[in-house]
Amino acid sequence: DKPLLSPARTPEDVDAALRPKSLDDFVGQKAARENLRVFIAAAKARGDALDHVLFFGPPGLGKTTLAQIVAREMGVGFRATSGPVIAKSGDLAALLTNLEDGDVLFIDEIHRLQPAVEEVLYPAMEDRALDLMIGEGPSARSVRIDLPRFTLIGATTRQGLLTTPLRDRFGIPVRLSFYSIEELEKVVSRAARLLDLPLSPDGATEVARRSRGTPRIAGRLLRRVRDFAHAAGHDLVDAKAADAALNRLEVDRLGLDAMDRRYLMMIADIYRGGPVGVETLAAGLSEPRDTVEEVIEPYLIQLGLIARTARGRCLNAGGWKHLGLTPPEGAQE
Ligand code: ADP
Repeated sequence: DKPLLSPARTPEDVDAALRPKSLDDFVGQKAARENLRVFIAAAKARGDALDHVLFFGPPGLGKTTLAQIVAREMGVGFRATSGPVIAKSGDLAALLTNLEDGDVLFIDEIHRLQPAVEEVLYPAMEDRALDLMIGEGPSARSVRIDLPRFTLIGATTRQGLLTTPLRDRFGIPVRLSFYSIEELEKVVSRAARLLDLPLSPDGATEVARRSRGTPRIAGRLLRRVRDFAHAAGHDLVDAKAADAALNRLEVDRLGLDAMDRRYLMMIADIYRGGPVGVETLAAGLSEPRDTVEEVIEPYLIQLGLIARTARGRCLNAGGWKHLGLTPPEGAQE
């Protein structure tokens, strides 16, 4: 079963009501937001489509939300798909030829496109053209079809997962990073207002502190806190009520869940603080390597609890202490 803090999408998160609808409404990611604002204004002034955009960063930080906002602010249509869903190059060709002038085509998990499908994207992105092969054998020939103007918005967890030719075709690469507690307080307060949940400022801080830097998790925890508060008959969710609920959910003071703690404990207990390879850890946790690298580790690294080194993963002094253990001699601070 899914750990509670997994930022992977669940149907509940498809709750469109919580998604900010404009750049002004979007909390945090200031640099990304302000740059997009400039590029959108410039494209609109030129009467052109926005250059292709690549969003990269851990799941749940707002890549899909921002893609929708870009389409809305440009005043164009929004079509969404994802890398693993496009099985054949013909599927992508059909998508592209059905776009209307200026549309945004959003491809989530774009690093998981089949190579043959990806090749269709190159001329589409560069020349707004589709190269089709007609016929077979010696009489086969290639015809070029013009495509409408469009903006491709790709999303991926790490820029480095993309092939170089694909990465090079995005004019606007945008990195999203974990949110600060202050930013998450705003996300949580806004969500509470939309959910009609009376939440005190210290209650918002408590949920924010324990959301792993991730708005999707903040929204999910808030909904569970609401359920516990409801069951306990509280009218107002304050820090105490939030703390009680989050403890019941086994979300600790840093926002780590059971899987995060198992990960840390495995390095401490079995590998004496490391270094240990990611494959070994993934096998021990029965999780795919991708999940370990893209979901579990980035936040533990951000907190400074672990380090990725050339020889493997190591537990830092903070990681030992978080487990209530004494760091061994020589553990990195
Ligand atoms: P990603 O595509 O990066 O996995 P999403 O765009 O689907 O993330 O966002 C996950 C959830 O978090 C959505 O429900 C969205 O409403 C919320 N969210 C993301 N970023 C923000 C933000 N800056 N402010 C408020 N809510 C946000």
